[in-house]
Amino acid sequence: MLGRNISLLMPEPHASRHDEYLERYQRTGEARIIGIGRQVQAKHADGTVFPVELSVGEARSAAGRRYVGIMRDLREKLAAEREAAEMRERLAHVSRLHTMGETASGIAHEINQPLAALVNYAEAARRLLEREPPAVEQARQALLRIAEQAQRAGEIIQRLRLFFKRRGGERRPADLNEVIRDAVALNRSDTRCLDHPVELVLAEDLPSVVVDEVQIQQVLINLLRNALDAVADQPGAALRIVSRREGGDRVAVEVIDSGPGIPEDVAAHLFDPFFTTKRDGMGMGLPISESIVRAHGGRLVHEHRDGMTVFRFTLPASLEDDIERGRTP
Ligand code: ADP
Repeated sequence: MLGRNISLLMPEPHASRHDEYLERYQRTGEARIIGIGRQVQAKHADGTVFPVELSVGEARSAAGRRYVGIMRDLREKLAAEREAAEMRERLAHVSRLHTMGETASGIAHEINQPLAALVNYAEAARRLLEREPPAVEQARQALLRIAEQAQRAGEIIQRLRLFFKRRGGERRPADLNEVIRDAVALNRSDTRCLDHPVELVLAEDLPSVVVDEVQIQQVLINLLRNALDAVADQPGAALRIVSRREGGDRVAVEVIDSGPGIPEDVAAHLFDPFFTTKRDGMGMGLPISESIVRAHGGRLVHEHRDGMTVFRFTLPASLEDDIERGRTP
């Protein structure tokens, strides 16, 4: 490089604009990278374009201005991050399959309900049509019910399919309240919900969040199932899920139960893999949930409040959503 223009290390369009950038900085003093540092693309001698972290400093002396640039090759770091994300993805999927195994009988029960109703309505419709004269209007009503129940069964299966499918971590803007309602609906295959209704206290004005919906549902289901375990011997005890906007740019969700709470020695290990106090527990629910929330730029914490056990996570709100609605982020 000695004696040559530094732009040789940059891909286009920056290479040909580099001198212009420098000239603009010297004219306006407005720094875009100097003293800031950021991830940019660099060009290898063999032409490969690859990511680097570039920091540029400036020194002024009697001899004039000098710039010092430090480039760090990020290829390995980014590959390791990608690999970690893939591992998390796979682990989360295995854990969802585990959930399915645990609730298989509940799932079968939930699908069986509309199917049984279908059989009854079909039988009724047949008898109504065999009457003399045929009770056409009543039979028509029965057929409407059949269509409704078939649709309900289809929706249940669709929800399950989405949840258990392996996915590549697609993130999209989503309405968190909708994700919460879906998770609660999915969790209905846990028959314990019959004794412990889930009360929803959802804020109306939530900004959207950019999430992998299936993974956030998974977090909610893990927390709900733990809450159900906690109130198992309090018949009728309600669980609560709260959503609210927090500060300007975050959304918080809380899953609250009135169970016995968590002793300090247990609390210290909540997020350790394979830590469980349950006879048939796996101890992966909370660590997986925590890593999902963290990968979404949020945090999952546990607290006691007014005698209740609270698991709370935050997610960053999608700023584009605010801009669309004309609010300043
Ligand atoms: P598992 O449910 O398989 O034990 P988790 O990682 O989900 O695994 O939970 C780890 C431990 O945290 C549980 O065994 C339990 O002791 C404790 N725990 C989690 N949620 C609650 C809760 N809502 N109330 C009381 N204890 C809880």
